[in-house]
Amino acid sequence: MDEFGKQRQRMVERFVIRKGIDDERVVQAMLQVPRHRFVQPALIHQAYDGKALPIGYGQTISHPTTVALMCALLAVSPGERVLEVGTGSGYNAAVLAQMGVKVFSIERIGQLVRKARRLLAELGYHSVAVRQGDGATGWPEFAPFQGIVITAACRSVPKALLEQLSEEGRMILPLGTTSRQKLTLIQRTGGEFFARQMGEHRFVPLIGKQGWPGE
Ligand code: SAM
Repeated sequence: MDEFGKQRQRMVERFVIRKGIDDERVVQAMLQVPRHRFVQPALIHQAYDGKALPIGYGQTISHPTTVALMCALLAVSPGERVLEVGTGSGYNAAVLAQMGVKVFSIERIGQLVRKARRLLAELGYHSVAVRQGDGATGWPEFAPFQGIVITAACRSVPKALLEQLSEEGRMILPLGTTSRQKLTLIQRTGGEFFARQMGEHRFVPLIGKQGWPGE
């Protein structure tokens, strides 16, 4: 195993398994995906620390525990479709793809879209489609989705996304203010939506009509 492989193993032990996330598919996927390729070159030595890191344009790659938790809560199976709002570096999308899921990821910043697309293709994650736009409107052409994950802070649940969630589907989103949010799991069952809130997190804000104004 190369040096990055050893670092990755330590990261998964400390920031996934020891945090109580024992979903085997998430663990195996995070052991495979080279997180160091998704961070800025100057931060490569911090890629396997338990940290969210800047990726440019005022955005971040999420903390490994957060990525693991969100992927585990989605509880999706190989071959199912997941919509991700907030591609960022593409790391979370790569972890889902490594789990065998088809990923449809939307990012509002064009430079991040192009960078993530290039990197995901280079690493062979061909089951990820990335487009630029306001993710709060979803991707109706590919709906319904068995899972929806929003990786930016939301002030409310985007209605269009609820409509694009399949029966028995799950949506994970950080819900709250710009300074703190509660990770929220919404499950659709029998045409109804049931929500459960978990611990506090801090994400960059969702920008757009249903979020906060950008620059
Ligand atoms: N999942 C990412 C990763 O693995 O690197 C981390 C994403 S970062 C915490 C949140 C991302 O959401 C940022 O890249 C930001 O530009 C994006 N974003 C914010 N508002 C958005 C919107 N309305 N639609 C799509 N993307 C949005």
